[in-house]
Amino acid sequence: MESRYDAIVIGLGPVGSFMALKLEQQGMKVLAIDKEKDIYPLPRAVSMSDQGMRMHQSLCLDDVYIRNSDIPGGAGFVDENLEFIGDPMIMKGLNTHNGWPPMQFFHQPYTDREIRERLLSSECDVFVEHELTNIDDAGQITKCSITNLQNNKVFNLECRYLIGADGANSKVRELKKIEQEDLNYDRDWIIIDIELLVEKELGEFAIQICDPNRIGTFIPTHSPFKRWEFEIRDDDDINEFSSDENIKKLLSPWLKPEEYKILRKAIYQFHSVLANEFQKDNCYLIGDAAHQNPPFMGEGMMTGCRDAENLSWKIIMDYKYSLGERLLKNYQIERKDHARFIVENSLGIGLLMEAYAHTENIEDVPAELVAKGYGSFAIPPLNEGVFYNGKSDEKHLSGQLFPQPIKFNGNEIKQRCDYLLGDNFSLVSTTEIILTKEEEDFLSSIDTKILVLDKEFIESNLWMSAMIEEGKIYLVRPDKYIYGSTSKEISLSQLIEDLKTRIGLN
Ligand SMILES: Cc1cc2nc3c(=O)[nH]c(=O)nc-3n(C[C@H](O)[C@H](O)[C@H](O)COP(=O)(O)OP(=O)(O)OC[C@H]3O[C@@H](n4cnc5c(N)ncnc54)[C@H](O)[C@@H]3O)c2cc1C
Repeated sequence: MESRYDAIVIGLGPVGSFMALKLEQQGMKVLAIDKEKDIYPLPRAVSMSDQGMRMHQSLCLDDVYIRNSDIPGGAGFVDENLEFIGDPMIMKGLNTHNGWPPMQFFHQPYTDREIRERLLSSECDVFVEHELTNIDDAGQITKCSITNLQNNKVFNLECRYLIGADGANSKVRELKKIEQEDLNYDRDWIIIDIELLVEKELGEFAIQICDPNRIGTFIPTHSPFKRWEFEIRDDDDINEFSSDENIKKLLSPWLKPEEYKILRKAIYQFHSVLANEFQKDNCYLIGDAAHQNPPFMGEGMMTGCRDAENLSWKIIMDYKYSLGERLLKNYQIERKDHARFIVENSLGIGLLMEAYAHTENIEDVPAELVAKGYGSFAIPPLNEGVFYNGKSDEKHLSGQLFPQPIKFNGNEIKQRCDYLLGDNFSLVSTTEIILTKEEEDFLSSIDTKILVLDKEFIESNLWMSAMIEEGKIYLVRPDKYIYGSTSKEISLSQLIEDLKTRIGLN
């Protein structure tokens, strides 16, 4: 083991592995460690959103999820007779503005296995059965102690960036004395993962079961696997409740006992918590270390991947161009509010299920709770941070995700646009982009891609054709959020000057 790394990633769940690969891809010297010997062998997270696929596409890991996923018909709320309450949200056959289906259900042991193999064959140093045991910040450099759990030997290492992707009981969070805000939604549920032993159609929709006797969830996941989750009530005896006999009863509306094998039954406490700080000194929290939410939105792992996508480009730019602290401080500014939205809306879905289950009349459920239902809201833009003038802006679309148009060959996908945008900033227009020599030098110094979009991309994409007009230029960030765009009020030179200031070059 070397004694000095550019970045050390603690925890190799899906979020830490994604982060380590992002940094390694750009030439950083990365150490990635996990206290466990191998991947967690049972499914935990099951859903991957359109943005999640887009983020994994940036590492060419989209194939891993395509191979190991099924696209659901949609999602909705049902009553105790499994009849839909209102219209479900339809997901099949659609590609969103991100250029991927709205949701895919994957089998995590399969995807984690392939991603671990990818990590092991990368340039990252990967140490399993090694645990972070101490952190000692010393200015620009962070010192940390890593213990080899096989022989208790302690290594003292140094790095510029320490990333805590070490899950809900994060040691990095504990050592950095970062408190958590509790949003007060703690419920015990049982999670039941099964493998189907027979061909049986159980429906393509993920459903939230609003049964007054016991609320629950069914997720079709990746065949032949299926998942159910049921609330545990205060009067339940946990041992009896989690017995195989009781599981047979819980699943009896769908399956006979001989039709499945139980893979996992775990009592899991759904929390809603948010770390008060996502950054302290040179240490950063991502994934479950920074936030935890009940799984009703299927966004737990996605929120973590958004953290990694957001932080990685800032770290890479700081590392490559010595930009200083200004850029990195924006990680928490951009991510904390966004993660709060996911935590609050996830628990909102739980409260809506409880309200539907316990009302005499569906019409009496308060409108603000109904607004938490699937299809009633979109994942918001980023509010503040590295954008023109430091803020999101509806007119210039800063803070929103730049759409990813697709070129089709009949029904076949020929090309997704992000492959042309690359991993750094990009300027995108439909006409030639004219720059001064100074602007050209600056943009090429930060490896900016200049792209003139061809008609095929625009015509095939509703979002793109609505927002692009002759002469308009978009400045797009490495994570594909729009930095800003030109208009009568904002010239290209103003956009570029503003970018220099905001990333710390002016
Ligand atoms: C047992 C369990 C069940 C879950 N069930 C569900 C579910 O049903 N539905 C759902 O949506 N989500 C579930 N989740 C959460 C979901 O898996 C996470 O949101 C997702 O995996 C993203 O997590 P992560 O990579 O941030 O952290 P994790 O996947 O938890 O990975 C953290 C990693 O850090 C390692 N680690 C911890 N401390 C140290 C240390 N000091 N030194 C070195 N390594 C360390 C751990 O071994 C682990 O591999 C579950 C999580 C767990 C742990």
